[in-house]
Amino acid sequence: MMDCIFCKIVAGQIPALKIYENDHVLSFLDIGPLADGHLLVIPKKHYSRLDEMSGDEVAAVTRVLPELADAVVRATGAQGYNVLQNNGRVAGQLVAHVHFHIIPRMADDGLGYRWNAKKYPAGKDQQLQQQIIAELK
Ligand code: 5GP
Ligand code: ZN
Repeated sequence: MMDCIFCKIVAGQIPALKIYENDHVLSFLDIGPLADGHLLVIPKKHYSRLDEMSGDEVAAVTRVLPELADAVVRATGAQGYNVLQNNGRVAGQLVAHVHFHIIPRMADDGLGYRWNAKKYPAGKDQQLQQQIIAELK
């Protein structure tokens, strides 16, 4: 995907501050960090959304998350971190190449956390349960 900024980083056509790399995965500092040490972890192969990838391909990316998160926490002194992975513009995805964010968190870092939980109307949860199960292959 030649118009993809992350593919260009993988190809070495534009610079990035790389943290880790293997045959399948590249990790580098986010250019617009929400916190010091904010990392991106991407598959080297182009996929727009997580559901386009096989389980094995996702596993090859996610298996490096614990070690990278541990390194970021140690390097920054963060008290916690969020792992975030957005799919689709409506979900906040701006770069259409699958990526996992590792965002270090500190108390009072001002980032906040919005989790506006709602309640299902009667029967809607069971209906969704059946609909989703029916879509599993
Ligand atoms: P999204 O909103 O798609 O989940 O996140 C995209 C992320 O990619 C943003 O946090 C943004 O700062 C980062 N980003 C966009 N362009 C570049 C770039 O050229 N280099 C790096 N290192 N990060 C980028
Ligand atoms: Zn790409």
